Amino acid sequence: MNISSRLILLLTVSVSIVMMVASLLTLRQREIVLRESARAEMRAHAFTLRVGLEEDYRSGHKLDAQRLISRLRENTGVYSVILFDESGNVTNLSNAITPAEFRLRNEAQQAILSGATSEIERSVNGEDYFSIVMPLEADARRVGAIEIVQPISFVNAHIARVRRHISLTALLLCLTILLVVTAVTRYSLARPIKELLGGAMAVGQGDLDYRVIVPGGGSELARLAREFNRMADSLAEQRRVAAREAEERLVLERALRHSERLAAVGRLAAGVAHEVGAPLQVIDGRAKQLLDRPGAPVETRQRNLTIIRTQTERITRIVRNLLNLSRPYNLRRQQIELAQMIRETVELIETQAESANVSIEVSPDAAVAVEADPELMQQVLLNICRNALQAMPQGGRLLIECERDGARKDGKSFAAVRITDMGPGIAADHLPHIFDPFFTTKEIGHGTGLGLPVSHRIVEEHGGWIEAANADRSGAVFTIYLPLTAASVIARTALEEVGSD
Ligand code: ADP
Repeated sequence: MNISSRLILLLTVSVSIVMMVASLLTLRQREIVLRESARAEMRAHAFTLRVGLEEDYRSGHKLDAQRLISRLRENTGVYSVILFDESGNVTNLSNAITPAEFRLRNEAQQAILSGATSEIERSVNGEDYFSIVMPLEADARRVGAIEIVQPISFVNAHIARVRRHISLTALLLCLTILLVVTAVTRYSLARPIKELLGGAMAVGQGDLDYRVIVPGGGSELARLAREFNRMADSLAEQRRVAAREAEERLVLERALRHSERLAAVGRLAAGVAHEVGAPLQVIDGRAKQLLDRPGAPVETRQRNLTIIRTQTERITRIVRNLLNLSRPYNLRRQQIELAQMIRETVELIETQAESANVSIEVSPDAAVAVEADPELMQQVLLNICRNALQAMPQGGRLLIECERDGARKDGKSFAAVRITDMGPGIAADHLPHIFDPFFTTKEIGHGTGLGLPVSHRIVEEHGGWIEAANADRSGAVFTIYLPLTAASVIARTALEEVGSD
């Protein structure tokens, strides 16, 4: 139920209740006053009649009593006048057909005995009557009594009339209140509230251009509507500012990304120029020697040609690595045992390790299988292991570990291959750049700065990642994370179940 309906209902009900209580009180009061005035009138009649009758008795004109009571009966309000003798027997009746139940013999005898007047109100055949019984005295003795009977139903009829009148007035008043309150609430309350509600819904749905109609006058609702419009103004302004700022930020970001891209291209070009430039210079020098000295001994010519070939191979390797960095991979995935792959890689670097006086230690976990391109994965392992060997020119130990539950990410399990060396580790300011193309700290001709970026790219293509850090004491730790195949996950679960049995 909305506010205006509730207000109308409350007002109408409360006014009706007040009206009803007030009418009841007025009616009751009216009834009391009417009954009392009827009684007072009867008392006056009775007293006058008594005086007349006592005078009659005193003067011995007893016969005039009938005339007197008949005269009084002519008063339309009086129903009957009954005269009793000193024994309480009815002697005269103003109304000959007065029924027996109106003749109050006992009360008359009581009045003759005690000399007291009594007033009785009773209902006969559904009609209310009021009787006064008075003793009659003459020459200091009681000579009889009179009873005057008057119907008082006219009081009830009057009250019923008044009640009808009051009910009609109350009904009219309630109707008027209903109409006035309905009109006032509809125009001054319901309409502005509906307007505000519509505004709140529109603003809530993002329409900040919506404005409510402000009702006339300085009512609270008019102030509320003005404040609402002011709030919508300020929200719209804030949105405009936010949109402008977002636009500016976007332009700035675009410019930044553009310049970052340019810088990256620049770095790449510089790297290529540097890495390819050095072997090209060597090739140029050796080719010039061959041209300048056609008669040079065969050994010299052969040495120059061998150097030219080595440098050409170097350029080819750089170009291939560069291509590896940018081209989309066509992975030839197959199930590979990591322990097996590590063994094969160790075999390939064994000679290099021996000559560098490095011992290789492998501690692979039991049967860990991943789905990967074996050739590319071996390239990754070789890149990292060779870097580790190069970091230990004075010898040391290279530790290769394999762990089945290396990490969990996004609900997936990853195997880890960890390669730890005993070299000097990676300088803190180099650490964020080691995966950048052409970043190298090695001497010219010894490093291209492409090994780690290419490895990183290959591992990412397999759904994994590489982490680089420094070991606790000395040396670097490279960890390769690769997603476990469903088969290894099932095998592990089975193993765990057997273990728990
Ligand atoms: P390159 O080996 O041709 O320099 P990489 O991309 O393989 O290129 O390596 C980039 C750089 O990362 C290296 O020059 C070296 O500074 C650093 N780095 C890589 N591995 C190690 C390691 N095991 N110990 C210390 N530094 C390393």
